[in-house]
Amino acid sequence: MSDPLLDPVVLGDVLRVAADPGFDRWREQIRRTGGCANPVHLTGWSLAKDKATGQTLHHYSTQQEPGGRLRIACGNRRASRCPACAYTYAGDTYHLIRAGLAGDPSKHIPATVRDHPRVFATLTAPSFGPVHNRPDRGRCRCGTRHGEDDSVLGTALDPESYDYTGTVLFNNHTGDLWHRFINRLRREIAARAGITQRQLTDTARLSYGKVAEFQKRGAIHFHAVLRLDGPDGPEDAPPAWATVALLTDAIRAAAAHAYTTITVPAAADQPVRAFRWGAQLDIRPIHAFDDGTDITEQAVASYVAKYATKAAETTGTLDRRIGEIAELDRHAVPDHARRLIEACKRLDPLYPDRRLWAWAHMLGFRGHFSTKSRRYSTTLGALRQIRADYRTTQERQAHGLNDTEPDTVLVLADWQYAGHGHTPGESALAASIAQDIRTNRETAREALADQRDLELEGDQSHE
Ligand SMILES: [Zn+2]
Ligand SMILES: [Zn+2]
Repeated sequence: MSDPLLDPVVLGDVLRVAADPGFDRWREQIRRTGGCANPVHLTGWSLAKDKATGQTLHHYSTQQEPGGRLRIACGNRRASRCPACAYTYAGDTYHLIRAGLAGDPSKHIPATVRDHPRVFATLTAPSFGPVHNRPDRGRCRCGTRHGEDDSVLGTALDPESYDYTGTVLFNNHTGDLWHRFINRLRREIAARAGITQRQLTDTARLSYGKVAEFQKRGAIHFHAVLRLDGPDGPEDAPPAWATVALLTDAIRAAAAHAYTTITVPAAADQPVRAFRWGAQLDIRPIHAFDDGTDITEQAVASYVAKYATKAAETTGTLDRRIGEIAELDRHAVPDHARRLIEACKRLDPLYPDRRLWAWAHMLGFRGHFSTKSRRYSTTLGALRQIRADYRTTQERQAHGLNDTEPDTVLVLADWQYAGHGHTPGESALAASIAQDIRTNRETAREALADQRDLELEGDQSHE
């Protein structure tokens, strides 16, 4: 990427923005959005009154703001749409997954959760036909040794026979397949513990956090952290029979079991299809420290967070809903992704309740990118609330209102949407603000991780 400041038009606009008397306030607004690339602009006011006396405690109006507008973060998860908000999302996901692995007292998850059996599993999609690849040894079946960035990787060797239809129908049903897998897994765990399903509920709880990844071929993979707790969740010790070996064995059995199948009925020219997970199943124990053999908590949390911000864009599809097929030409969508999108269009009237066209930009996938069971750890909503509360407190303190009781204050407000985005100069400045915040955040995270590891090493030396 070229430096936008080298562009004289951008530089001219940067200087215009910087020379504006409202520049400091504008920069503060953008800093609070985390350097959002596409902030939402609001105009309006809010008024805080004491309920008892009717006295005005605080009055805020965007009239005092630069351009008469307040800019708030767009909150988009996709890195291709807003890197700053995607980093915030990735950071939250990282903390969510890590809290479920290492514990986090501020989120009421004790560090003893580290002793619970937990694994990192990757459930893959089945084959829909041979694709160009980079085998460990030798060449691709087409006879070429493809480079790492070769755009043909993941595309069909024979587009005429490749099952694009199967791919998007599979993607569309992965959420249902996951649920069947989890149901079966509970049975397999109970069977290995020698207890009934009902007894399992009374003695242990299965928790998970998972993230969806699009492979280059456009099929969905799931990466999941699976953990066994006591019946009350992460704060409760699991029963003695709950081991990593038992969990691993149960996952293998559940993934391979006939119950873990989704049947898609026939429709018009489409045959009945039965979808299972692919034969490749990777299950690895998660360890607190890097002993060179297994995967660490830190690596798992980073991995999941990274995938949480990547949608289907890696396949060359569009990062927003598609109105009409003609948009694919305008955005030069590559052939493989295009055929998958066209399959969604074709299938949409055959399976209307599956909403394939609405999810065509996701190649049929309609689930959430990252999901978790109720007791895995904290929620993204809770993390957002903590951040929102923090900002509100900052705002209140700035206006000398930090001691007010919410019950005694009446808040009136009126907000209007006034547009979104940046001028070219604002955009360059926002990107540099986002970069600063990101650097600070990474430094802080590394320092925190070092400190935790030191504390743990300290704990262990007492044993
Ligand atoms: Zn944003
Ligand atoms: Zn090839």
